[in-house]
Amino acid sequence: MPQDDQSKTDGSAAGVQGAKREGKTGNGEPETKIDCRGEVIGQRLTGYLAPTMKESPADAEVVSHKLMIRAGLIRKLTAGIYSWLPLGLRSLRKVERIIRVEMNRFKAREVLLPSVQPAELWKESGRYEKYGPELLRFKDRHDRDCVLGPTHEEVITDLIRREVRSFRDLPLNLYQIQTKFRDEIRPRFGLMRGREFIMKDAYSFDTDDAAADLSYRDMYQAYSNVFTNCGLEFAVVEADSGTIGGSFSHEFMVLAETGEDALAFCGQCSYASNLEKAKTGDYLTYDEPEAPIVKVHTPNCRRVPELAAFMKTPESSIIKSMLFEVEGGAPTLVLIPGHREINQTKLKNALGGAEPRLASPEEAERITGVPMGFVTPVGAKVKIVADLAIGRMNNGVVGAGLADYHLANAKPGRDFQVDEYLDLAVAMEGDPCPHCGSPMTVKRGIEVGHVFKLGLKYSEAMGATYMGRDGTSSPIVMGCYGIGLGRTVAASVEQNHDKDGIIWPMALAPFQVALLPLQVQNPEVTAATDALYDRLTDLGVETLLDDRDERPGMKFKDADLLGLPLRVTVSEKGLGQGQLELKDRRSREVTMLPLEGAAEAILALRDKALGQVA
Ligand code: ATP
Ligand code: MG
Repeated sequence: MPQDDQSKTDGSAAGVQGAKREGKTGNGEPETKIDCRGEVIGQRLTGYLAPTMKESPADAEVVSHKLMIRAGLIRKLTAGIYSWLPLGLRSLRKVERIIRVEMNRFKAREVLLPSVQPAELWKESGRYEKYGPELLRFKDRHDRDCVLGPTHEEVITDLIRREVRSFRDLPLNLYQIQTKFRDEIRPRFGLMRGREFIMKDAYSFDTDDAAADLSYRDMYQAYSNVFTNCGLEFAVVEADSGTIGGSFSHEFMVLAETGEDALAFCGQCSYASNLEKAKTGDYLTYDEPEAPIVKVHTPNCRRVPELAAFMKTPESSIIKSMLFEVEGGAPTLVLIPGHREINQTKLKNALGGAEPRLASPEEAERITGVPMGFVTPVGAKVKIVADLAIGRMNNGVVGAGLADYHLANAKPGRDFQVDEYLDLAVAMEGDPCPHCGSPMTVKRGIEVGHVFKLGLKYSEAMGATYMGRDGTSSPIVMGCYGIGLGRTVAASVEQNHDKDGIIWPMALAPFQVALLPLQVQNPEVTAATDALYDRLTDLGVETLLDDRDERPGMKFKDADLLGLPLRVTVSEKGLGQGQLELKDRRSREVTMLPLEGAAEAILALRDKALGQVA
């Protein structure tokens, strides 16, 4: 081990000034290396809590969950709640740092808000009732209602209404990186859908709509930079505003087959949308001439495919009629072509907010007076909404309102009335794009970030106003912006792995280099390893030294599993030729490096990989 401390600070040109040794072991073993800011640059594996596992846990369904457990990055405490072990935490911190840089660059100011929030604020915003059981509610010892923050619009709006007085205090953007709790009904996929998770949430405050749009645009750009700098392949899609509310929103999606969200992309123009929201162009056109309505005996034709086969008509000409109950609203009959599904989010938004629920056959019979399962729009006494495609139909097949009969050649407007035509269908692969009509494709993605234009929703409900130049008081225009940090780390694993383990992008890797001495009993091997470890860490290359006295096969397996971008092997054989072995985890390419100048060569590779995304 070189004792020349001067040589250590020589690395300053490479950006890590004053890299130094942390304490002394007295037995000559390489120690944890920290830089001048206290960050760990070099770490040996012995004594670091990095337990690897051969088998995946039984409850792990997706690859990121499996690999993050197996590589010793996280451990489960209980359903949807995970501990971060040292290696995992390093990746999390990297995402955090990348986010901070962009937030600070776009003039967001960092704050830290409490997790425990008084229920009063949620009652003021109206979300105490609306949020549902995902919101964990509890009482303190004085019997006061509290919630554990799933998000912080209420708390931040409360802060702002107290602190912001005039237009001079605006615009303002505040962010935090903090733990959220959502009592998700089905926590799963490890960090992807946890109950407790870490989020970066930012909130912007502006005097008017135009200024709020600029804040939104800045955050959109900041988010694009964040995910680019994380080394992720992502897409930005139009999204539904959900329980957060507000006027428009975009989601940042990491494309991966295991993603929970389906996304529609136009092959020609830039239209991209979450399927929850995706509009369709005129996905069905009917050109048959209209014919008079006729009653047809259709025994045992309860389902669309049977009925279509019996009637010798395509499923798209069958009109499905479904009765929905809407809390606080009138029961509504929803009509949709037979081969299509109703998009629940579109329906909910169309019917005015409350979650519509499909009526049971008994309820439908009670409400419509028609026998169970034979609901018909013809002569119906309830409100009827229909998908846009229904309006283009001349000869539809609908229920006849009695058992075993249907009506053929039914035409909306002539044979039954429709109160409103709406876009209600789930978009499908091949549907025409709503903007340019080209066919759309459907891919899957993981939502890692979400930006919302909130407008006045919270500022009006909670009285967050500012005094304008002319002395009048107006509500502040808000936006909110979230990134799930754990989900981002998991999404990176989901997108970057092979059968042997994780393949970290350089930007998120817990360490940049895995240094593997193969014969730790051989003083020549350890001396060369220690010298390289010192040099690499002095140069600011984050190095994990596998100093364990284990078989080479085991070290290689673990190195592949953990997936640090560069693996450097020091062996008796290599040293005999004055060489080290370098393996690129992603390409699996192996090259021999001359011992002389090896650290500098590795530094250059590290910088090249980081530079590709900067
Ligand atoms: P989802 O639709 O996936 O439930 P959301 O729309 O509820 O997400 P937001 O309220 O916009 O999510 O939260 C911002 C970000 O926080 C999300 O983009 C996601 O990255 C992260 N996030 C949300 N819920 C969870 C969760 N249960 N576990 C981990 N991360 C989450
Ligand atoms: Mg959610």
